[in-house]
Amino acid sequence: MESIALFGGGGFIGSHLVRELLNEEYKLIVVDLSSEKIRDVLPHPKIEYLELDIRNDENDAKFKQIVDDSDLVVDLVAYANPVQYVDKPVDVVELNYHDNMKIVEDCAELDTRLIQFSTCEVYGKMGGRSDGNPVFEEDESDLIMGPIHNQRWIYATAKQLLERMVHAYGIEKGLDWSIIRPFNFVGPEMDYIITSPDEGTPRVFASFMSALMYDHTMYLVNGGTNRRSFTYIDDAVRAIKHVVENEGKQFSGEIINVGSPENEVTVEQFAHLMRDIYQDISTDGSLPEVEEISGEAFYGDGYADCERRVPDISKLERAGWEPEYDLRESLEEAMRYYIEKHEEKQIAK
Ligand code: UDP
Repeated sequence: MESIALFGGGGFIGSHLVRELLNEEYKLIVVDLSSEKIRDVLPHPKIEYLELDIRNDENDAKFKQIVDDSDLVVDLVAYANPVQYVDKPVDVVELNYHDNMKIVEDCAELDTRLIQFSTCEVYGKMGGRSDGNPVFEEDESDLIMGPIHNQRWIYATAKQLLERMVHAYGIEKGLDWSIIRPFNFVGPEMDYIITSPDEGTPRVFASFMSALMYDHTMYLVNGGTNRRSFTYIDDAVRAIKHVVENEGKQFSGEIINVGSPENEVTVEQFAHLMRDIYQDISTDGSLPEVEEISGEAFYGDGYADCERRVPDISKLERAGWEPEYDLRESLEEAMRYYIEKHEEKQIAK
């Protein structure tokens, strides 16, 4: 039986991927700081769960052993939330570049195939693109970062360097690699829910979901004019599975966008669609206010934004994949999960 190690397998994407891979004949080694998001499947005869911190060098030998014992490593470990890029830029580079490089090196040395998770944020901003084309192609598009004092870009820069090193290890050391660039996945167990705005700043879906359920303001950062292409997690996981299976090695040495280009909206439209759906499917009769706020007031100094990002998905289409969930269906599925959980909690009180 093939053995797959999932570093960060207990996070949002990892937990959904783990559940999907359990349907196949794989043995899974899941490494994370918490098993909270996979509590429904643990303990499981096909999962070895290890609570270990990749940031702690004392664990390096254990990680090397895990890489050695595996046929494939899926590396999902990252700080991946804009508020962290602004608040803790040094930690972002330490984890998203330095600590991840330990896994890359182990994979190269021990001849273990690697799927490295990156981000669509490496494409950077629209400004400065001479052709103005918002559709990002993995092997053609330029990667355009903003100035240094906008420290949001430190995340994309660290991820870009990690991608370039993975690629370089392929050339110089024969590493068998694939890189995945996710485009705004949404679904159950994404980020975390806050009961009031001073509890944190999750990404936009979790942020609006929290506001709807706990009746606090929905903030449209810089007017909500930026656009995102949202992807339902089940579609994303089916796409990732193609990369895991790697038929005919078609994804070896490839960067792969995973996203739903048809699901592009402005953040303002996204907020209003979530409000409509909330009214349709929840028993809560009230809706919170919507307010505009500046990026600096919401995230702090050093915030900058990506105006628009749409994935070219030809590589996955050639493998027979296409997204099935349109935006409304994606949100209905994800929101229903939270609303049911919330209503169960209310009843239990
Ligand atoms: N955003 C917003 N209100 C929120 C959270 C986010 O208007 O409560 C905006 C944010 O400024 C960005 C978009 O929504 O333009 C998506 O932000 P997210 O944090 O989900 O991640 P990103 O796609 O920027 O990595």
